[in-house]
Formats: sequence, C-alpha cells, structure tokens
Amino acid sequence: MPFTAKLIDDKRNPNMKHKTQPSATQMRAAVRLAEKELKIAAQILEWEIGDIWGHVGVRLPQDEGIAVQMFRRPESGKKDWLVHFDYELNKLGGVGTPPREAAIYTGIFKARPDVNAAVHAHAPMCVALSLADKAVSCVQMQSDRFGRGVPIYPKPIYILDAAEGADLARTLGQAVAVMIKGHGIVTVGKTIDEACMCALRMERAAKIMAIAQLFGFKGVSDEFIEQLSESKEKLFSRQRNTMTHSADWNYYADMIKKGKVWTRGWT
Ligand SMILES: [Zn+2]
Repeated sequence: MPFTAKLIDDKRNPNMKHKTQPSATQMRAAVRLAEKELKIAAQILEWEIGDIWGHVGVRLPQDEGIAVQMFRRPESGKKDWLVHFDYELNKLGGVGTPPREAAIYTGIFKARPDVNAAVHAHAPMCVALSLADKAVSCVQMQSDRFGRGVPIYPKPIYILDAAEGADLARTLGQAVAVMIKGHGIVTVGKTIDEACMCALRMERAAKIMAIAQLFGFKGVSDEFIEQLSESKEKLFSRQRNTMTHSADWNYYADMIKKGKVWTRGWT
C-alpha cells in the first residue's frame, strides 16, 4: 500500500494503528509524495481528456483534510494551483482556493472510507454518452471495471455544497465512477494512480462505445462479460513482479518526466 494511503488507513481503522503515531517527518514525506503524484495525474489527464478545468484530489495523511490539484497549468511566474482544505471547505494551506466543486471530494470521501483519491473532469465523450443516457460499461479488456454500466447522476448541475456532494456520493454508491449528465465524470480509487487511470480508461471506453454505436452496437452479452472476466482471472493468476504503481501509471509518468506526449485513444 502506498505510504499516504497507509497513514490514512491507520487513522481510520484503529485495529491497524501502530503503537506509535507517525512522526511529523513521516507526515511531511507522505504529503510531498501525494503532491508529486497529484501533479503527475493532473498532467496525464489534462492531455488525455483535453480539459483544463478538471482536478484530482487525495485525502491528507490521518484524514485531516484533502489536497486538490487543478489540471490547468499555473499562470506564468505562479505556482501550481494545489490547495489543502478541510471537510468544511476551509483552506488549510497551499496555493489557490478550494475548487468551486470541492464538495465532490468532501461528499465522496465522507461516504466512501475505502476511497482515498478522486478525479473530476469534464470528459467530452462521457458527457456525450450521458446525454443519451448511455452509461460507460465494460466493452473491452480495459473497461471491465465499469461492469454493466456506471451510475449516471441525472441533474446537469455543478456540485457546490454539502447536500449536492452527498447526493452525488449516493448516486456513486459503491461504483468506481459516476457520470454527471451534461457535465462530466467523477472517478475514485484507493490511490491517485487508480482514480487517474480509471478516468483515462473511462473516456477511452466512451470513445470506443460511441464509435461502435455508429455501427449498430447495442451492448455486450452476458457471455461476453463472463468470458472476459474468466480470462482476466486466468491472466492475473500468473505470477508477476509486485509494483507500487500500475504499469500504465509508470508509462505515462515516464513520458511526462521526459517532456513527451503520447497518442491518445481516437485522437
Ligand atoms: Zn465540473
């Protein structure tokens, strides 16, 4: 488990608590690591989704608040918009102000103790499908996490206060993502890597679905889902090296480090 997620879990689950609390140095290291990952995730998704108004957030160690990084680059001479705030949306530190839709994070993090990170983006193809009430679902190997379709939040609104954040979290339920009709998506994960890759895969799955539907695709059969999940189980039963991040994350993080961009799906 990544260090940040571990510190958060220790606080939430007393059974997992160490005999000693993490030191201030450990806490600072966890925050630095989380901020580094937020920056990478924001860069991956800004390019991949083409949305400068999206953001990515993570619980702070010990669940003392939330850190959110905007996708958009800072104005010249200014630092990245990376802000820390508490569950009442008071700024705790960092640069900028809590995003207008900060209630997405507070609502979901309160409702889902299993979730440590979330992404909000205005992913265009997901928005297109939401308008047609087509939920992003499992249509190929890399979209199996979406199962028979993620929930769609029916109101085309900004998520601006605690009531709307809680309402969105109720629609999300135990799913990995939710589509907000005519607005965008929210994806969640135990780690920043997981929430980020979920958003990347979701927009690509939406593009595949949209193209396939032009050719008459009406959705996959139960047999398709069964065969795919059996094959995936077989694949993962083979021994692999354990990695702290997904292979996808390592690939994109390396491209960013080298200052390169990659080919996006269908674009
Ligand atoms: Zn939004």
